[in-house]
Amino acid sequence: MSRFFSEKHSALVPYVPGEQPKDMKYIKLNTNEAPYPPSEKAIAASAEAAKNLQLYSDPECSGLVSAIADLYGIDKEEVLFTNGSDEILNFAFMAYCDDNTPALFADITYGFYPVFAEINHVPYREIPLKDDFTIDITEYFGQKSTIFIANPNAPTGIMLTRAEIEEILKNNPDNIVVIDEAYVDFGGESCVPLINKYDNLLVTQTFSKSRSMAGARLGFGIACRELIRDLNTIKYSTNPYNINSMTMAAGIGCLADDEYRKRVCGIVRENRAWTEDALKKLGFEMTESRTNFLFAKHPDMDGGELYRKLKERGILIRHFTKERIRDYNRITIGTMEQMEAFVSAVKTILEEAAAERTDAATEVK
Ligand code: PMP
Repeated sequence: MSRFFSEKHSALVPYVPGEQPKDMKYIKLNTNEAPYPPSEKAIAASAEAAKNLQLYSDPECSGLVSAIADLYGIDKEEVLFTNGSDEILNFAFMAYCDDNTPALFADITYGFYPVFAEINHVPYREIPLKDDFTIDITEYFGQKSTIFIANPNAPTGIMLTRAEIEEILKNNPDNIVVIDEAYVDFGGESCVPLINKYDNLLVTQTFSKSRSMAGARLGFGIACRELIRDLNTIKYSTNPYNINSMTMAAGIGCLADDEYRKRVCGIVRENRAWTEDALKKLGFEMTESRTNFLFAKHPDMDGGELYRKLKERGILIRHFTKERIRDYNRITIGTMEQMEAFVSAVKTILEEAAAERTDAATEVK
């Protein structure tokens, strides 16, 4: 830290993104990216937009807004696009949390929530998930806080039903409930149909996962028009041109080819089912994932050890050091070829560890 860094940020612990090592070519199953490229329509539109990069991008994102309004059956005033969904989540912390209205979220959830709280100097409280990593919705009732719920949750992959979220909304009529649907397209139940019923609901989604556009940085929020107006106030007070022209064009191309997204999600779900089955056969325990990743642990191997041994073999998965989940790893679902390579490496690692244990036991005798 330099001597000039403001004291107000001196205790800030930044979010740590999944590693992107450059020393060799890895099979990347650590950042929940899509294993397939974006739609051809997105690629072509983005290349075309590059020809006009001398101009600022459209701050209103008119084309994108029309496209998503048509696709989701919402009004244009009910959506706001941001630079990844991280940006709209940060906007929500800025707009709806303060000393009188702290933030509230699970102890095991998206690791950026506490960081957003810290950088915005917002007090926050974490509610522990149950032992099986599910949420007890009653713990979120009447909390007088702004609630953030990733649904399905990350890194557990577990989802709440729309009816359960509705209970949380009904029991917090005077507080905002943010439902982060980054992974909803892989098997969750979206709360977008509830935005006109609850004026305290903000739903966030992203193009990073199911739409194969993580590198373009495109996310959005859907809510009643009053909330979108608040969030626009924040956007126009920070970065009016938050979506660049190439990303905007790619987003429009992508939405014009929604069949492609559905196909990719279908393949990811199939690959997930195959991997889940293969890992179960190897003795892994897993949560029920509705996402593009699995959250798994093995009774005979520490999560960190498995992570390290896979990395040595050129396969990256995500290991978290937080006490409650250190036995687990989060494994992004890739192509079938990648998942076969992953399962085969895991099998070898477990066999080698079992052989070492047998050797050690023989020596002791
Ligand atoms: N929410 C959750 C639960 C996530 O896992 C992520 C991805 N790291 C995000 C939001 C943000 O994704 P992006 O900014 O790429 O839209």
